[in-house]
Amino acid sequence: MPKTALFPGSFDPFTLGHEDIVRRALPLFDELYIGIGENQDKRYQFTLDERVRMVEGFYADEPRIHVVSYRGLTVDFARQLGVDFLLRGIRNPSDFEFEKAIAQANRQLVPELDTVFLLTTARYAYISSSIVRDVLRHHGDASVFLPDGLQLP
Ligand code: ADP
Repeated sequence: MPKTALFPGSFDPFTLGHEDIVRRALPLFDELYIGIGENQDKRYQFTLDERVRMVEGFYADEPRIHVVSYRGLTVDFARQLGVDFLLRGIRNPSDFEFEKAIAQANRQLVPELDTVFLLTTARYAYISSSIVRDVLRHHGDASVFLPDGLQLP
């Protein structure tokens, strides 16, 4: 049976930290879905369409990666896709506490859906989409935080 996972997130924008998690997850799963979420209560710098196109373009040559967008509960979307696992990255203790609560709540909702965590590579631990957004807003050079070849809109 092929093993599949959904990596959900905002990816506003997709960073070197996200790319590192995806690259390291690829040997673990046969198919990986990158699920780009749209949450009514969040304000994004990039539209859903821009975020999807950015990640799709980056992985155009990787047939095992599928870029999808969704609204609503991540567990509902995971069930709809029929994936075996959720995938998340952890940078620090506050990520851990936050992710732990979400993963435990998700398992309460859908017991057969487990979450796999990968610890960030140390040199990317400080990178977050919000820092990148701040740099971009002030016309700084954000390329050091972004994967080589990623096209921002
Ligand atoms: P969300 O709004 O769901 O937190 P993000 O796009 O900020 O979406 O993050 C998606 C996932 O990527 C989360 O699991 C987050 O912890 C992980 N992540 C973000 N930045 C990094 C990084 N620098 N290293 C490892 N994982 C990261």
